[in-house]
Amino acid sequence: MHPVAPEKSPGWLRKLGQQSRPGRVVNICFCVVLLFSTLLTWRETVVLEEAYIANQRNNLENVVREMDAQLQFNVDRLLFFRNGMQAALQTPLAIAVLRDSEKEFSRKRHLPDWHIVLDNRRTLPLNGVSDAFVEQTHFLSRDNPLLGNEFTAAMELGYLLRLSSITGHHLSRFSPRMLYVSRAGFFLSNEPVTKNITEQYYGLVTSPWFTQQSERSNPGRGVRWYTTFSDDKQHEAQQVTASVSLNAQNYWFGVLATQLSVSDMGAFLLHAVEGETEGEYQLYDSRMNLIASSEKQVVPLSPQLQAQLANAYEKDNNGSLREMTRYISWEKLRNFDGVLLRIHSLNEGLRGDFGRISIALTLLWVLFTGMLILSWVVIRQMVSNMYTLQESLQWRAWYDALTRLYNRGALFERAATASALCRQEGKPLAVLQLDLDHFKSINDHYGHQAGDRVLAHIARLIANKIREGDIAGRVGGEEFCVVLPNATLAHAREIAERIRESINSREILVSKGQTIRVSASVGVSASNEHHRYDFAHLQSVADRRLYLAKEAGRNQVRAED
Ligand code: GH3
Ligand code: MG
Ligand code: MG
Repeated sequence: MHPVAPEKSPGWLRKLGQQSRPGRVVNICFCVVLLFSTLLTWRETVVLEEAYIANQRNNLENVVREMDAQLQFNVDRLLFFRNGMQAALQTPLAIAVLRDSEKEFSRKRHLPDWHIVLDNRRTLPLNGVSDAFVEQTHFLSRDNPLLGNEFTAAMELGYLLRLSSITGHHLSRFSPRMLYVSRAGFFLSNEPVTKNITEQYYGLVTSPWFTQQSERSNPGRGVRWYTTFSDDKQHEAQQVTASVSLNAQNYWFGVLATQLSVSDMGAFLLHAVEGETEGEYQLYDSRMNLIASSEKQVVPLSPQLQAQLANAYEKDNNGSLREMTRYISWEKLRNFDGVLLRIHSLNEGLRGDFGRISIALTLLWVLFTGMLILSWVVIRQMVSNMYTLQESLQWRAWYDALTRLYNRGALFERAATASALCRQEGKPLAVLQLDLDHFKSINDHYGHQAGDRVLAHIARLIANKIREGDIAGRVGGEEFCVVLPNATLAHAREIAERIRESINSREILVSKGQTIRVSASVGVSASNEHHRYDFAHLQSVADRRLYLAKEAGRNQVRAED
């Protein structure tokens, strides 16, 4: 039987404790908790980040939708005017004022610069150049059979444009410039002519939104978007133009265009971020030219990012990009050949709600981890102390602390086991019972501590004189018992004699400069005398003989009655 009292913990826990050192179990448990708390925090942060990105995308989508709606309104208007002009080309309004203005055109068409006003308050003036100018410019022509109709249709458009500029402003956030530029040497604009008419006309018919509407360049005849840049080095966008060609009876008459100023678009984006503390919108055309931004101090995308965006633009309608601490969501506009970006920095992200929650979460994790590590250190220390204590208790349950030999209980237990084994194997078993002579007087003369030192010394002498497998223990104050498996009485007597001799031959230091010589009396018994293995019996016989040895004068071995 194990000398330690059985533990009350459940079987599986005991098993776990026995199989692995408790320290290791504590380590594993803490690692698992740390791992799971870290995973959980990480997961939460990822979910938060995703929610944040979704929120940003949502904002972007809203602005894209609104901008698209605005652009759609302008494109619809452009197409409405184009269709109106087409109808007017086929069936012009047969009213006198229009016929008069047509006559005025016939009179003025050879002049270098001219303009014809019908009614300044209700229609827009038509501005034109001379026949000569048209003739010498190769892509212009006044030789079309419907020239008169085109002229009156332009006049009608002038009426509609004037009307829509009076009544339609509230419908659009942009106040676009509307134009009709004819290949027959005249144009109509809802903005006043500021420079020389010929110069301005030439500028219009040579701009890409006009030239690219030729039948060869735009066979589909759909709406096309163009960005106009200033000529200076900064290549700053000035205008965005949507243009559509006017065709009838397989003839290209001219181009209708709506021009949005970049500052209008910037104002629109600025309006979009109003009330928001973070994020910036940037509008790029399909060639990745920056058109407008909601910020005054624009930080354009790096060339790498522009290349990435251009690449993604080819494949998708929306997406996201990341550049160091800048996060970019982008979405193509439906009604514009370009892309709107929402850019937000890590700093802005952290300042927002999502950022604050993420920071709180991280701090919580740091706090938790710190506390976990602290408790791990404390518990490890406790476990290690308990482990040491347990080992020490276990040792004390078996051994006598002073002599480091088996204590009485352990000796009896080990002796019983040895006796059963010898009986089983038919081998002899001997017992020595040893008592120090006049030990009380040592205590009396030199003190109890000196007595203790003598006891420890004697125990070492006994332990040195026995074989491995022999069992030596302290059974009383200064009484020792030695069990000798596989030893006959004669053999045991020899060993006892050697022990006695060894004890008596030494001078033992009891105090400073003071040595004494002690003696011991020994009683010996063995199983081969009466074939009795019973340890209690053998010990009582040895004890009796010890008594006889004392009687006979001490410092001797007695192996017979
Ligand atoms: P003898 O055996 O020769 O008849 O005489 P004795 O003086 O040895 O007598 P006995 O065995 O009866 O006395 C035992 C003494 O041993 C009594 C006690 O003072 C002392 N003793 C018992 N245990 C201890 C101990 O742990 N330490 C010390 N220092 N003394 C002990
Ligand atoms: Mg005694
Ligand atoms: Mg004694």
